[in-house]
Amino acid sequence: MEIVALRKVTRRYLVGSQVVTVLDGVDLSLRPGGFCSISGPSGSGKSTLLNIIGLIDRPDEGRIVIDGAEVQDMPERRLAPFRSRHIGFVFQSFHLIPVLTAAENVAWPLYFQGVASKMRLARARAMLERVGLADHADRLPRRLSGGQQQRVAIARALVAEPRIVLADEPTANLDRKTAEDIMSLMAGLNADSGITLIAATHDPMVIERSSRRLKIAQGRLSDERGDSASKGASARHD
Ligand code: ADP
Ligand code: MG
Repeated sequence: MEIVALRKVTRRYLVGSQVVTVLDGVDLSLRPGGFCSISGPSGSGKSTLLNIIGLIDRPDEGRIVIDGAEVQDMPERRLAPFRSRHIGFVFQSFHLIPVLTAAENVAWPLYFQGVASKMRLARARAMLERVGLADHADRLPRRLSGGQQQRVAIARALVAEPRIVLADEPTANLDRKTAEDIMSLMAGLNADSGITLIAATHDPMVIERSSRRLKIAQGRLSDERGDSASKGASARHD
């Protein structure tokens, strides 16, 4: 079964008195476990699309199926727990909470799942070990490098064992060597865990590593060869 399915998803913004159609009937089918990149110029709608898949924005029209659940009409009180169980987010500028240690940042999503405090920190430490930061668990974000902060953010995205991780330009604020290390880490976690990874990016190195390469332009999503993104899904690994 598909892990993510979008059907005719449309998102418009009102800018002044003008209606701007950012997503114009987008179709997408993703099989579980793949690594999908979404590339396109700045302003093409990459973040809008990720936010819709991640259930932090809603489309004006269209259907969204995440892990078998129709979510477009789900009320917010059901959407929030659904989101926290299914989705992890990694952002360009890390978005760590500055007054919390690395371990406390990673533990944070588990609070919303009612995990007991001791268990939260134990799981956070185990996750930090997986991203190579066991020794830095008690540091505040400002005492970590950019690459280390992104590792903490990846650990936070994964700690609740979501089925989908969305990464919005995850390498944009990192130097080349660190960006490559971060993508090796994410690709490794993707291969080991069966998590579906979706990255919005214009970094050729990230696109190169992805197994399904989508492009967005003029509100439409297409596979790199120009096919509609919903066609041929059964012939692909993702
Ligand atoms: P990308 O991530 O590819 O750079 P975005 O999804 O952030 O693109 O934005 C796509 C378009 O939608 C841009 O033209 C942007 O200005 C517009 N946009 C995004 N968010 C809003 C908003 N809240 N209100 C109005 N316009 C928006
Ligand atoms: Mg963006």
